[in-house]
Amino acid sequence: MSDTEADSDKAPEPDKGAEPEPERSGGAPKRRKLRTYPGLKASAFMHPWDVKATDNLRRVPGFDRLVSKVMEYSFERVFYLQNVADNVRVTAKMFPRLHKYLRWACAILGVDEPELYVSMDPQPNAFTYGHKNPFIVLTSGLVDMLDEEERFYVIGHELGHIKCDHVLYTVVAQNLAAILDIIGQATLGIGALVGGALAIPLYDWYRKAELSADRAALLCVQDKDVAIRTFMKLAGGAAKLYEEMDQDEFIRQIRAYDDADGSQLNKAYKVLITVFRTHPFPIMRAKHLDAWIQEGGFSSIAGFDLEAE
Ligand SMILES: [Zn+2]
Repeated sequence: MSDTEADSDKAPEPDKGAEPEPERSGGAPKRRKLRTYPGLKASAFMHPWDVKATDNLRRVPGFDRLVSKVMEYSFERVFYLQNVADNVRVTAKMFPRLHKYLRWACAILGVDEPELYVSMDPQPNAFTYGHKNPFIVLTSGLVDMLDEEERFYVIGHELGHIKCDHVLYTVVAQNLAAILDIIGQATLGIGALVGGALAIPLYDWYRKAELSADRAALLCVQDKDVAIRTFMKLAGGAAKLYEEMDQDEFIRQIRAYDDADGSQLNKAYKVLITVFRTHPFPIMRAKHLDAWIQEGGFSSIAGFDLEAE
């Protein structure tokens, strides 16, 4: 591994000619270099549940046909055009700090730079679309809710989905109802077949893919506090009460949390996904990321121990 030029601290003041650096929402700024991981393979950090759920998904009869239909019908192109028409693209001149985090995360994870957009939407959300040319969208609600480092975290998370090759199946998961509707009209039978057998394994995979993307995000920010703060805000961030949120108390909560019965959770998820909430269950995600740190998964890749900082 090697160091990038990426310092990750203190308030951004682009007009002073300084490198934009993430501001910290509490405590003294830490100055440190972010590490990169040349040659990093997704398999080195992917959550085993994600790997297993992917296998299960691929074994569902008709799944490969559904996926090839999704490609044939160019859903990616439709979403891309709609996105470009609606949202503001992040560049070196437009939202330069977000652009910088994108470049950092790409350098750290070894991912080609995708397009990044901000959409006007008060609902905090982030998602990645497209399998051939993936692009990332952050909603204005999410950007407003998070501090600089936390924005870097969510960009790292979305890049993690690209790194792990989640994006094609994500298009299917996020649009299953619409896709089945369109394909069902064109190819009688596939829609009904896949719709019945696929929904639960697909949502199961989709939820577990989050766990791998969170690991990628942590590999980017290289700071456990940033990850925990992000989850804390996603779970219960009321903007006017941020100052009253307590990280230690939150860590106690996530360590006490037990995963719910899988089948119930998948049913719940099926409902949640229909309201387009792409990053649910922040407590579960925080628990799994915390466990990965505790068992040495992070340090074995990063070469240093977060807890020792
Ligand atoms: Zn995600």
